[in-house]
Amino acid sequence: MNYPDLENKTVLVTGASRGIGRAIAEALAKQKAHVVFNYRGDESKANELAEHLKSLGASKVGAIQFDVTDFDMMKTNIDAYVKENGPISGLVNNAGISKDQLVLRVKPEDIDSILNVNLKAAMVLTNHLSRQFLKAKDVSVVNMSSVVGLMGNISQSVYAASKAGMIGFTKSFAKELASRKVRCNAVCPGFIATEMTENLEEKAKDHYLQAIPLGSYGETEDVAALTLFLLSNSSKYITGEVIKVDGGLYI
Ligand code: NAP
Repeated sequence: MNYPDLENKTVLVTGASRGIGRAIAEALAKQKAHVVFNYRGDESKANELAEHLKSLGASKVGAIQFDVTDFDMMKTNIDAYVKENGPISGLVNNAGISKDQLVLRVKPEDIDSILNVNLKAAMVLTNHLSRQFLKAKDVSVVNMSSVVGLMGNISQSVYAASKAGMIGFTKSFAKELASRKVRCNAVCPGFIATEMTENLEEKAKDHYLQAIPLGSYGETEDVAALTLFLLSNSSKYITGEVIKVDGGLYI
């Protein structure tokens, strides 16, 4: 997998401290991209990740402190970074949370927190960057949705709504900015082995495994591979698409 146009491209990946986001940041580093990620509090861990990405080949690495739900801090710190380092032309809205609970037990404050992290933050960030996207070249936005946003799932009504919302946002953003050559696509992972899925009950994990035609859970690198393709110019004629990486879980 080699995408020469990703060399020196400035790509911001949210939620890169672990899991899928980290695999995307690592894959970008191997393509010699300028990798930018956010961190919430632990500066030493952010420095470690920055060093790691440089060692993998990143042409430049930037760590910006913000929680994706602190919209003011997010905008201020990104603007300061861009002023010093130039425009961002790739964005991966990946930060996300899940909190499984039956419809009967969902509290309004849980709805707020899941929608804020998984959907509103991605919308606020993408909209904020869209002004500079108009001036940048080869802009590509990748939104991390989920197969659950397509098929729904027991105990995941709020999570599913947030991920379905991401798809509506992706398609609308893609339509609105296509004439300016800004692309936007959504990726729908199925069951990928990360801390997010680690906490599921064994019964639920077995149930997923039985339902996956390719017979195994996905790896973070599987999602990173598709994301890289969508960020690169190899996908220059693809926008508004929703692509699953799920081993056939939802055919
Ligand atoms: P994960 O291992 O739990 O990692 C989540 C990442 O999001 C972490 O880097 C975390 O940062 C960050 N994050 C969460 N809340 C944040 C906030 N308020 N502000 C800033 N960063 C925040 O999750 P994952 O499995 O890699 O999932 C990544 C994305 O893929 C999510 O959007 C998820 O919904 C989606 N997805 C995952 C699967 C799967 O099977 N794993 C399937 C479908 C879709 P901290 O380290 O600071 O907490």
